Amino acid sequence: MNSILKITEAYHFAAAKHVGQRRKGVAEEPYVNHLTEVAELAARATAGADIEVIVAAVLHDTVEDTQTTFEEIADRFGDRVAGLVAEVTDDKTLPKAERKRLQIEHAAHASQGAKIIKLADKTSNLRAMAVSPPKGWPPERRAEYLDWSLRVVVGCRGSNAWLEGQFDEAAAALQPPKTARD
Ligand code: ZN
Repeated sequence: MNSILKITEAYHFAAAKHVGQRRKGVAEEPYVNHLTEVAELAARATAGADIEVIVAAVLHDTVEDTQTTFEEIADRFGDRVAGLVAEVTDDKTLPKAERKRLQIEHAAHASQGAKIIKLADKTSNLRAMAVSPPKGWPPERRAEYLDWSLRVVVGCRGSNAWLEGQFDEAAAALQPPKTARD
């Protein structure tokens, strides 16, 4: 399939699946804004060379957060895209703490494409935390989220220097300012 067709189809598919969903932040951005950001980061990181990684980035939250199945993604976008989405999808039958622990554990064994999507996703989430923090999250909860994101990303390091730089910048923006004595 022509790559422009594939990418526009993925956007249309994801927008329809996430219709009505909003981000957790105080600005309540439409959910699709997160998908466009993650896909753009993945596209820049790969210089647009790996269409399937970009398509999977657009679709990365469809199975976790909507009624989409992996079969549906495989039918429309192919097995590699479905596999990439599977690599970045949490098993929602598990308790939250276990899902978070598994993300840290799985990151190091993920494929190169999945590591890029994961890095882009965490970068987008940290950027959102700086400009539109989730409603009702006290500073400790935000600090905990940052700490966990940093631990997941340890396993993704070495996959894409530019994207790691974007993540590090987003993380640094959330660190408390250092005092002169530090
Ligand atoms: Zn996401």
